[in-house]
Amino acid sequence: MNVEAGTVVHLHLTVTDDGGQVLEHTGHDGIQILIGAGYVVGGLETALIGLTAGSPFDLTLGPEAAYGPKTTAGPQVVPRRELPRDIATGMPVRLRASDGSSVTLWVHRVEGSRAWIDRDHPHAGKTVRFHGHVAGVRGATADEISHGHVHGPGSDHHH
Ligand SMILES: [Zn+2]
Repeated sequence: MNVEAGTVVHLHLTVTDDGGQVLEHTGHDGIQILIGAGYVVGGLETALIGLTAGSPFDLTLGPEAAYGPKTTAGPQVVPRRELPRDIATGMPVRLRASDGSSVTLWVHRVEGSRAWIDRDHPHAGKTVRFHGHVAGVRGATADEISHGHVHGPGSDHHH
């Protein structure tokens, strides 16, 4: 089966910056991603289309195709209690702005009672290399497609 929109791809993935430093690593179990739902950066998703189980991939993407350009001067410090309880470094948090619109911010650091958050992803502005292999591909279930995320083993979603 080929990777395409509406499939669930099991990936083993390492992300490094242009100096070779590891930014992300999916670990022993890898991750499962619903293709077409916006969970992986656009350039990576495009590169995965058409691959099959066992296919390796190795691509280097500039900021625009990866985590976006840098748009702010850097993260701002806020009291941790103003954020959801289970925040962790590298996580997105959706907050309601004063005008009622919702905005997604990224957690850059958590330390004691303080957290550093920013509109930019922690890896914004970086040229990054994505390398790894496709461990498996399956069709998404109707439920997964309607929810827009993966269910079952390898997913952190329970309901
Ligand atoms: Zn669900």
